[in-house]
Amino acid sequence: MAEDLIEEVVVQLLRESATTLPSDVIEALHRAEATEESEVGRSQLRTILKNIDAARRLAVPLCQDTGVHVFLVRGNADAAVERSILSGVARATAEIPLRPNVVHPLTRENPGTNVAEGLPHIIYHPADDDILEITVLPKGAGSENMTALAMLTPAQGIRGIKQFVLDTVVRAGGRPCPPTIVGVGIGGTSDLATGLAKQALLRPLDLPHPDPVIAALEEELAEALNLTGIGPMGLGGSSTVLGVRIATAYCHTASLPVAVNLQCWAARRATARIYPDGRVKFRGSPFEP
Ligand code: SF4
Repeated sequence: MAEDLIEEVVVQLLRESATTLPSDVIEALHRAEATEESEVGRSQLRTILKNIDAARRLAVPLCQDTGVHVFLVRGNADAAVERSILSGVARATAEIPLRPNVVHPLTRENPGTNVAEGLPHIIYHPADDDILEITVLPKGAGSENMTALAMLTPAQGIRGIKQFVLDTVVRAGGRPCPPTIVGVGIGGTSDLATGLAKQALLRPLDLPHPDPVIAALEEELAEALNLTGIGPMGLGGSSTVLGVRIATAYCHTASLPVAVNLQCWAARRATARIYPDGRVKFRGSPFEP
């Protein structure tokens, strides 16, 4: 597949995700505004919705923190795909523009391109077909900094999982810019659980988990979290979360890893499918047909 086509698609994905939220997120914010019990909370949601509308009309980023970039690539990807993603991120940073957020962890030196050792983070899922699917999930620091991992004991079970999710969201308070989407990774190893928590954020809010037990747990947690009173931007109210999204993996019989990855109201994501004949389809998530 041509490198310049992939680079162009990456730039478009970054532009789309930076300036426009997926429709399921916007609908969830409208529902929250309609049901929010606090006047201050409602006014925060109204401001958020106006901000979203202005960003889309003016084609400017929704938030000054345009995040660091996580990519999921599904398909038969070679080194050329990775080169195209890196050059696409550097180009988008200059052209859109995106804030150059990526710095060395110790010296804080900033290359200015959002491309450096380890970032963007690219996760590959091999596939047999000839379609290349690229998804981007920009993560702002306010929500990413609230990530938490617990290595529970199997005896702590579902009760322990619920307590950990509640404690994490309450401890985060207003810092992740609520209403948030709460990604929960359950099982695997410590690193797998943390990755699952982030990848769980890719499932749209109007798409329930296919396992009814997990779907019910997501609903139960969302209801409980909306009773915490944290509210929009942490200023109080009944809209603390837009939803909870859980992803699971089997784990060691002696382990129960649980990770939480919060996503702020600016829940940006975008997906593109590139077909062998050069056609490109853009979607709000890899779950959309
Ligand atoms: S947490 Fe999200 S909405 Fe808040 S400043 Fe960061 S990117 Fe923006």
